[in-house]
Amino acid sequence: MIHQVLDNIYKIELPIPFPLKTMNVYFIDEAPRTLVDAGIKTEASFDTLKKGLETIGYGLDSIERILITHGHIDHYGQAKRLSSLSDAPIYIHSKEYGRIRSIIHSLGYLKSILMRNGAPEALVNGAIQFIESVHNMADPLEEAFFLNDGEAISFKSMTWKTLLLPGHSPGLICFHWPEKKILFAGDHLLKEITPNPVLNVPEYRWPFRYPSL
Ligand SMILES: [Zn+2]
Repeated sequence: MIHQVLDNIYKIELPIPFPLKTMNVYFIDEAPRTLVDAGIKTEASFDTLKKGLETIGYGLDSIERILITHGHIDHYGQAKRLSSLSDAPIYIHSKEYGRIRSIIHSLGYLKSILMRNGAPEALVNGAIQFIESVHNMADPLEEAFFLNDGEAISFKSMTWKTLLLPGHSPGLICFHWPEKKILFAGDHLLKEITPNPVLNVPEYRWPFRYPSL
C-alpha cells in the first residue's frame, strides 16, 4: 500500500473502482511537503491515503502542496477535499483546466459525436450513464495555480523541472528530478496496460479536437 521509494519519497497506492484497481500518488517528505496526484474522490481512496500517511507519522493536514499531473478523475478527484483540509495550493497545467472545472459539460458533446458516427443507442446511453456515475468521484477545481513547461518545483534541498508532455491528455505534465534520475510520469508512461483515449471537448481551434494518445 505504501512504499518508500527514496529517503524522502513515498509511493501510496490508492484504490479506484475501475478494472485497473489502483493508481499511484507520491508523498514527498520535505518542505514544502508535497503530494503528486491526489486520487479519486471515494471514501476508500480517502481512507487509504489517510492511513498511508499515518504510518509515516503524518496527517492529511500536513500536505503543503498538491501537484496534479493531468485532469483525469483518478488523478485530481479528491484534490479539493485534501486542499480544504490542509490549505495546500493545487497546481496543474492550464490546458487541463477545462476538464477539472467539470466533466459533466462534456456529456452533450460526447452524445453528439457518438450519434453522428452511428453508435447504437444502447451504447450511447451506456456511455452517458458511465460519465454521470463517475461525476461524483471528482470535485471540480475552480481554484488552481498553473504550471508551465520548464517551470522549477522547489523543495528545501532539491529542485524538479516541470515537463509538458501532451499525448495522454493535452496538458499532461511530468516532474523530473535529474540528479536522481527520477521522473514522476503520471500516465505518460504506463506499464503493461493501454491508456484510455478520453474524449476531450474542443476548447480551442474549433473544430479541432485533441487526439488523446
Ligand atoms: Zn489519465
